[in-house]
Formats: sequence, C-alpha cells, structure tokens
Amino acid sequence: MLYTCGLCEVIVDEIMDHPCIEGYGHIYIDNNHFSYLVLDDGKTTIRRSTVSTGRSGEVKGVVEDELETNENICPNKRQ
Ligand SMILES: [Zn+2]
Repeated sequence: MLYTCGLCEVIVDEIMDHPCIEGYGHIYIDNNHFSYLVLDDGKTTIRRSTVSTGRSGEVKGVVEDELETNENICPNKRQ
C-alpha cells in the first residue's frame, strides 16, 4: 500500500514511519491514500496545497480543512 503525504507530497509505503506525522496524535487517510495531519481538535486537517494569492498568482501553502466525518482517522502509532 502506498500513501502520499499531504504535507510534503512524498509517496511512502509506511505512513506511520514518515517524519511529517511526528508530533501529531492522529492522521486522516482519504480514499486516494492521501494522508493529512489532524490537529488536536480531532477534526481539522492540514495539508499543503496551491493557494491563490490574487494578483500575484499562486503559491504553495499549508491549508486547513475541517473534516465532516471522523471516519478514516487513524491514531499515530508512534505516539
Ligand atoms: Zn511528509
């Protein structure tokens, strides 16, 4: 099984060993095996995405999303 880290966009075969998730209690894995870090509130995920900056175009930034479901949230086994 391959996973894509939603933060650094690296593809890994064991997301639980990936350094980006260090320090986060939970991660969220979507149907495309993208993994996102879950903040302490248990419903806000962060990922890196292209963000529109208006006139100057687009940059890569970290965006927050709120989950509508807590399905597919996995405890970080390294904690
Ligand atoms: Zn990463």
